[in-house]
Amino acid sequence: MNLHEYQGKSILKSFGVAIQEGIVAHTPEEAVEAARKLNEDTGTDWWVIKAQIHAGGRGKGGGVKLAKSLDDVKEKASNIIGMNLITPQTSAEGKKVHKVLVAQDVYYPGESETSEIYMSVLLDRAKGRNTIIYSTEGGMDIEEVAEKTPHLIHNEEVDPAVGLLPFQARKIAFNLGLSGQAFKEMTKFVTKLYKAYEGCDASLFEINPVLKTSDNKIIAVDAKVTLDDNSLFRHPDYAAMRDITEEDPIEVEAGEAGLNYVKLDGNVGCMVNGAGLAMATMDIIKLSGGDPANFLDVGGTANAERVEKAFRIILKDPNVKAILVNIFGGIVRCDRVAQGIVDAYKNIGDIPVPIIVRLQGTNAVEAKELIENSGLKVHSVVLLKEAADKVGEVLA
Ligand code: GDP
Ligand code: MN
Repeated sequence: MNLHEYQGKSILKSFGVAIQEGIVAHTPEEAVEAARKLNEDTGTDWWVIKAQIHAGGRGKGGGVKLAKSLDDVKEKASNIIGMNLITPQTSAEGKKVHKVLVAQDVYYPGESETSEIYMSVLLDRAKGRNTIIYSTEGGMDIEEVAEKTPHLIHNEEVDPAVGLLPFQARKIAFNLGLSGQAFKEMTKFVTKLYKAYEGCDASLFEINPVLKTSDNKIIAVDAKVTLDDNSLFRHPDYAAMRDITEEDPIEVEAGEAGLNYVKLDGNVGCMVNGAGLAMATMDIIKLSGGDPANFLDVGGTANAERVEKAFRIILKDPNVKAILVNIFGGIVRCDRVAQGIVDAYKNIGDIPVPIIVRLQGTNAVEAKELIENSGLKVHSVVLLKEAADKVGEVLA
């Protein structure tokens, strides 16, 4: 589950990580109120107004603006709230901004220069370890740094059984070229950041930039936080942070029906039981020259109701030109699924695209008969290869 910057920062703060303070606002009036409150709490009289959407690159798209007076806060907030923000990480249509974070300006001048650092914590699945990735080249374009000057990006592996050791925190601060107070602050920052990552069951923290302020504080200015969905049951407060307006509406609807659906860009809709079989099905569609329109795992109980719901969800995608149903009957009986398909077909009315069905396992023979005798435009096949070939044929 992805979080907004302001939510990510509130989690960081709860673990003692130093952040750029801010207050979320839904209207320009609330933004002014927030700015006033921040002035009282932190003394700041410059603010940044930051669009809250689930995408990075907001600065580039005009979603992050500095404001130097309360009138300015009002103006910038009213420009950003309601805007359609297009960034390198959104689709071409962009995302509508519903709220902004009004934050204290932390780039004030002082005894030394400010510097922007990149830092992320994530799981390296290949190594089975957490990794802290960091670079002196923070700011907006870490992808470019990775491409052009990869030697400027460092990597610290952390054994999850041991946690981040003090020498590792010092090594990170050293590699970032810090000294004195900033060095000390960085070791504290990264130690707490790692504890926060573990403590909130995150799968990704990306803090870009981490700022060294001109008075040598180290603070998180941005926060991209992704939490592990499988851990949300033990964090009801985090689960409540979910913002479904930021998610794909079809995926939300599928999730509510207990279907595991991920939209893709192709034209062959897939309905499969089991994630492994779904992956294999997508592979074979690709091999036969097709392109999957989605990943859809109907799960262990592929009953008539779920099959119908799955059809309806697949058909919401206008790119779908054919549907491949690939169900393995282990516990679930194929004839039941076949009946579900026939019923769904009748309930939905005219399904405008050809359907290829492969039902294998318990009662597969009965299932095939049922489909063939239904008189519907459904192609029944036995082998997975046949199914893929048939998809190619109907699309040709
Ligand atoms: P992103 O573009 O979505 O990654 O949003 P960020 O939160 O990283 O902000 C983008 C950029 O805005 C940062 O890299 C900073 O250069 C700038 N910025 C953020 N906070 C402040 C601030 O307090 N003062 C000033 N002057 N600039 C800021
Ligand atoms: Mn950023």
